[in-house]
Amino acid sequence: MSTPHPETLALHAGWRADPATTAVAVPIYQATSFQFNSTQHAANLFALAELGNIYTRLGNPTTDVLEKRVAALEGGVAALAVASGQAASAFAVQNLARTGDNIVSSTDLYGGTWNLFNNTLKDQGIEVRFVDPSDPEAFARATDDRTRAYYAETLPNPKLRVFPIAEVAAIGRRFGIPLIVDNTAAPILVRPLEHGAAVVVYSLTKYLGGHGTSIGGIIVDGGNFDWEAYAARQPALNTPDPSYHGAVWTQAVKPIGPVAYIIKARTTLLRDLGAALSPFNAFLFLQGIETVTLRIRAHSENALAVANFLKERKEVTRVIHPSTTTGQDAEWTRKYLPRGQGGLVGFELAGGADAGRRFIDSLKLLYHVANIGDARSLAIHPASTTHSQLTGEEQAATGVSPGYVRLSVGIEHIDDILDDIAQALDAAGG
Ligand code: PLP
Repeated sequence: MSTPHPETLALHAGWRADPATTAVAVPIYQATSFQFNSTQHAANLFALAELGNIYTRLGNPTTDVLEKRVAALEGGVAALAVASGQAASAFAVQNLARTGDNIVSSTDLYGGTWNLFNNTLKDQGIEVRFVDPSDPEAFARATDDRTRAYYAETLPNPKLRVFPIAEVAAIGRRFGIPLIVDNTAAPILVRPLEHGAAVVVYSLTKYLGGHGTSIGGIIVDGGNFDWEAYAARQPALNTPDPSYHGAVWTQAVKPIGPVAYIIKARTTLLRDLGAALSPFNAFLFLQGIETVTLRIRAHSENALAVANFLKERKEVTRVIHPSTTTGQDAEWTRKYLPRGQGGLVGFELAGGADAGRRFIDSLKLLYHVANIGDARSLAIHPASTTHSQLTGEEQAATGVSPGYVRLSVGIEHIDDILDDIAQALDAAGG
């Protein structure tokens, strides 16, 4: 059989039936620990001479299926599921960068990642150098001998400018630097590994889960980056690791495959920092992923219809959606998102912050929540909520004007979504 399509992988990858019971649905292995066959078996598992279940902080059979399924959907070789998207972003960087090292990141980031990079990683001695992604060569200019990774989001909100994945990945490969891409807003629509990224991270909380029930994250190893060829650039994977009896990860995992990056993340960061995903949440994510290919198509169609509708409204001064970009941004939209442009739409109200608040308070169908990627439609007014701690100047730099409203368009019938937006715009006024 040729490689199955995403619609098929979403239902089948990593699982056929439960070896113990023949159950077709993946069981929830709600267990902390797994019995060893013998002391030799236990020793082999701890020494990575044999792969298997030990303790759910390190891995779990339900979570293992989720990891295999997402790795297959991305075209990667292996994945590590963790307790949140935040943990995935943090681990993805900490797996390569240590005190005194730096990474270069796009400025266009989710606020939580911005804080992680600007404050918490800085406190840990890891410097994050921010560059404007509209100039890919800015990544090269910010690179020095201690740069260990590049980082970006495919479709960052609120700006919704598509990131030039291949352009920046190619620059990184000149230096032996992997590109880590947060693809949370565009699963299925684009596979960053195909464009040269080395690692993909997701907040599973959003479109992959899809139903607003669970927090989780995942890191996918593309297996397409030759860490060993850049031994001086990537010491974390090429020098003895005292936290695992001196293992040199690129050597230690050779019999298993090109999985040094993800095995190290599991056996050191997940083991030590403990951000394990619960098996129950892994089950809910598997359930969500079964329909993600259908949902992301519906989200994309509805969001495009909402963007087109908003363009015609007199109260709206600007619509922010990949379809409204121009020039180079439009080219990157066409290049990276030919299958759909995702479910996010932003718009600016002529009436500023007051109109923004009135719009949100008038919604009847759309939920007012700080989330994206739910099957239901969601809305938020960033200036009075997520971005309210920022100065006006900082808000402007992050793309949030006083009258900016963000929508995460759901999969309800489009007429019902438009009706609600129309009545809320009437109430908000110009
Ligand atoms: N990355 C992006 C693009 C996000 O939108 C979010 C959350 O909003 C995160 C990461 C963090 O994910 P989580 O809330 O699951 O920790």
